[in-house]
Amino acid sequence: MKSTPLDKLIGQAIGETNRPLSRAAIDRYQAERLRSLVASCRDRSAFYRRALTAAGIDRLRGLEDLHALPLTTEADLRAHGPEMVCVSLDDVARIVTLHSSGTTGAAKRLYFTAEDLERTLDFFHLGMEQMVDPGQTVAICLPGTTPDSTGHLLARALERMQVNSHLLGLVSDPQAAAHAVAELRPDVLVGFPVQLLALARMAAHLRLNLAPVRSMLLCSDYIPDSVCHGLRQLLGCEVFSHYGTVETGLGGGVDCAAHCGCHLRESDLLVEIIDPRTAAPLAAGQWGEIVITTLTRTGMPLIRYRTGDRGRLLAGSCPCGSVIRRLDRVTGRFNQVRPLRGGGQLALPELDELLLALPGLLDFSASLADDHGGEQLRLCLTTLPGHGEAVRRAAADQLTRYPALREVEVALTLAPGPLIHYAKRVLHEQRKDQAP
Ligand SMILES: [Zn+2]
Repeated sequence: MKSTPLDKLIGQAIGETNRPLSRAAIDRYQAERLRSLVASCRDRSAFYRRALTAAGIDRLRGLEDLHALPLTTEADLRAHGPEMVCVSLDDVARIVTLHSSGTTGAAKRLYFTAEDLERTLDFFHLGMEQMVDPGQTVAICLPGTTPDSTGHLLARALERMQVNSHLLGLVSDPQAAAHAVAELRPDVLVGFPVQLLALARMAAHLRLNLAPVRSMLLCSDYIPDSVCHGLRQLLGCEVFSHYGTVETGLGGGVDCAAHCGCHLRESDLLVEIIDPRTAAPLAAGQWGEIVITTLTRTGMPLIRYRTGDRGRLLAGSCPCGSVIRRLDRVTGRFNQVRPLRGGGQLALPELDELLLALPGLLDFSASLADDHGGEQLRLCLTTLPGHGEAVRRAAADQLTRYPALREVEVALTLAPGPLIHYAKRVLHEQRKDQAP
């Protein structure tokens, strides 16, 4: 089995290209970068200077001091973002602004220099090498109109590899997208997990041939098992997973041919897992909150940033032979787990596993609402044309077997047409006592 191409990326970064990467060499490199990151943040950022002083950190010895560093939160980013920038605004090449739904406070802004974006390009380039060869075609179902957005950077990375790329945009109309992909006949498809599943299901329904697609890269949202399974069954292609957020610099980690977790971009990112309640560090194998430290980011470095994503690191080496750390499949966000009044909790990824396994379903929206003193889970199902009632019955049957919903009324409706969502998946909250 071929080792992950990230071995090459990280070998180049740490200056060890002539021999197999060792864990000790990566750890030495990360310790050195962490020391200089902390020194530079203290010099250049008022926010970090205050935080490091308050934590009593003068200088770091090495990775053993990582857990003494203060954590950074999304609230810090919103309130103090500009104070975290370590370069002059003239050197900022791109600012990404994120407004989260339901939040009325300041927007979250992340600042990147050209050097930061170049490192993301390098990661995209090497990550894609295992999926596509020069002269082949990749269809990118991501937004790409903004310069240096994920879709745009990916297209630039593919251009370097003499690979043809076509930015098709997000899939909101699976019928139109299925026709576009069938016409283009790409070798590789890249996009949001549920959107690509909807596209593949619609193509099968319309008897459109997507056979040239030999691999897919799922990105930009957590990846339910039911989606991977559905795509492999429908297209018989290899399915790769990517983990990345704006905070990780768009690229974070990608799996290898062994498909046993995403190899992390350890030349640029230090990833740890903490207990979300106590903030205590957790060992490989234990599930908790993913925390990232950017080791090379020049524009707006992040020290121990709490992503809010639920995941775990995998212990040991990968079957591909690489010692680069691996992140298991991310299973959603902690703020998307909703307590239920009758006890227990409801998490959208669990609904995804139950419902997206139904072959006629393209997508669904979910919200929790008040209902005559009780609570109601409202699900609106988007299905293949002609499959609405059958999918609704099958969904009702699946949900009766879900213990958390024993005391929750479930209302299932059908969407008027086959248009789907085009953003990250969210469990909407409409219960008055739970409103943010
Ligand atoms: Zn591997």
